[in-house]
Amino acid sequence: MDIDTANSPLQTAYKGQTYHFCQMECKKKFLLSPKEFVTKPTPPAKTWPR
Ligand SMILES: [Zn+2]
Repeated sequence: MDIDTANSPLQTAYKGQTYHFCQMECKKKFLLSPKEFVTKPTPPAKTWPR
């Protein structure tokens, strides 16, 4: 069975990427701090400024 994700309310676009969520709570968490969810290169711990 196909799921029409394009019309799902549980998705959002962020920086050109579309993110899908399993529930509204997950989407809320994402919207509060999207940076936490975006995959990014993690610098070595010793060069991390904080
Ligand atoms: Zn979730």
